[in-house]
Amino acid sequence: MQHLNNPPENHQQVLGGQGWVGLIDHLGEEISIINAARVSFGKLKDQMEERDITLLDYLIENKHTSPMEHVVFTFSVHCPLFVRGQWHRHRTWSYNEISRRYTEIDMEFYTPDKLRQQAKSDRQASVAAADFDDAELRKMISTHNQSSFELYETLLDRGVCREQARGILPQNMLVTFWGTVNLGNLLHFLELRDSEHAQWEIREYAIAIKKLIKPIIPNVAKYYESKGQVW
Ligand SMILES: Cc1cc2nc3c(=O)[nH]c(=O)nc-3n(C[C@H](O)[C@H](O)[C@H](O)COP(=O)(O)OP(=O)(O)OC[C@H]3O[C@@H](n4cnc5c(N)ncnc54)[C@H](O)[C@@H]3O)c2cc1C
Repeated sequence: MQHLNNPPENHQQVLGGQGWVGLIDHLGEEISIINAARVSFGKLKDQMEERDITLLDYLIENKHTSPMEHVVFTFSVHCPLFVRGQWHRHRTWSYNEISRRYTEIDMEFYTPDKLRQQAKSDRQASVAAADFDDAELRKMISTHNQSSFELYETLLDRGVCREQARGILPQNMLVTFWGTVNLGNLLHFLELRDSEHAQWEIREYAIAIKKLIKPIIPNVAKYYESKGQVW
């Protein structure tokens, strides 16, 4: 049996190898979108033709998203709590996660490879500065992660329940969850999260998801590439 904290075979590493996102399963292909869009004609096709690609482009361009909802993906995501918090704001996904009420094994904490500075102009943004000397600060983060874990273990050793002890664990704690979403809502997620307005860490996951799904929806990817996006 495979442990949920291990990445599935088809996965992309992110955050310098500390996090990952994997494709667990999917339902439907691009031809499912075309068949759904033309369902009123009562005919089903197996292969994409040139005019189907034109229809696909039209559907995306005009936000006719319901045919996209017939393609569904399940991902396994290993990310820090603060990324999970942002991700779970997307209500159109279905989620399940390992519970820290049941287990304390395999606890891991994220220590950024590089710290960014606070942007002066935008309170939500950060700035990557090559000359920012962050080595000591990153060491302090790593030490804090470790001492939080030690306190957590002390609380458990003294008989405190897991559901209260976990309250002292930092936002850098890595969690693993499954998320299932249809293509229409996934494209919305990718638009918001592979964006210069999104936090760098969650953006890494959005970029990785594009790489995972591109072989399944190559013409959707081509549409966005034709608009200047990287897939
Ligand atoms: C750069 C950035 C900064 C952000 N900053 C903040 C912040 O400071 N504070 C904060 O609280 N949030 C913040 N958010 C989260 C943001 O407000 C959204 O909650 C999040 O992006 C999910 O978007 P969504 O609701 O469109 O997605 P989903 O929940 O996946 O919904 C997709 C679409 O379905 C429809 N929908 C889903 N559920 C409902 C519903 N119940 N009622 C009506 N329509 C629905 C809407 O059209 C919605 O756009 C930020 C997001 C981004 C990308």
